[in-house]
Amino acid sequence: MRIAVLALQGAFLEHEAMLSRLGISWIEIRKQEDLHRTFDGLILPGGESTVQGRLLKELGLFQPLQSAIQAGLPVFGTCAGLLLLAKHLQNDARTHLATMDLTAVRNAYGRQLGSFSTRGEFAGLGKIPMTFIRAPYIAKAASGVEPLAVVDGRLVAARQGNQLATAFHPELTGDTSVHQMFAQMVSQGHIQ
Ligand code: GLN
Repeated sequence: MRIAVLALQGAFLEHEAMLSRLGISWIEIRKQEDLHRTFDGLILPGGESTVQGRLLKELGLFQPLQSAIQAGLPVFGTCAGLLLLAKHLQNDARTHLATMDLTAVRNAYGRQLGSFSTRGEFAGLGKIPMTFIRAPYIAKAASGVEPLAVVDGRLVAARQGNQLATAFHPELTGDTSVHQMFAQMVSQGHIQ
């Protein structure tokens, strides 16, 4: 199994470290040629979704990655990565890959509560540490989207077929369970 990590901006090194800890091999996606290498899954890291969205287009990565996700490539988006996947953004007219049937709210916790850590229940994983940094949350999810974690009444993790998204950053904690869950999705192969 090999997982590609989008390495344009943001917290991609932390995801790579997580994958290494789990003994999973990974490659970085920085330019079109990187797409010629084989990989079985894709991680979209946290960072700044508007910057990442613009770079995806400028570097010619947008179309191929969007098509691959639509064709069933397992993908895991954290924070800005969730915003890249969301079909609708409640407080931003710009959307990005827009492959996941949900409405997300950007910078949804306001300035004071922008960054915080907590422990929350995650479906199938029990209580895990969750680090939020100027995080979004999921305001609405279509019926095909499986809710995975709710914090303070707000949906913060979900899965739709081949797509997994968390508003928080599991890669910034010592807990590998969400990455293990994604690795399991990847090992099941393309899912429509
Ligand atoms: N606030 C960022 C955005 O809107 C996301 C923050 C993050 O990824 N930690 O893209």
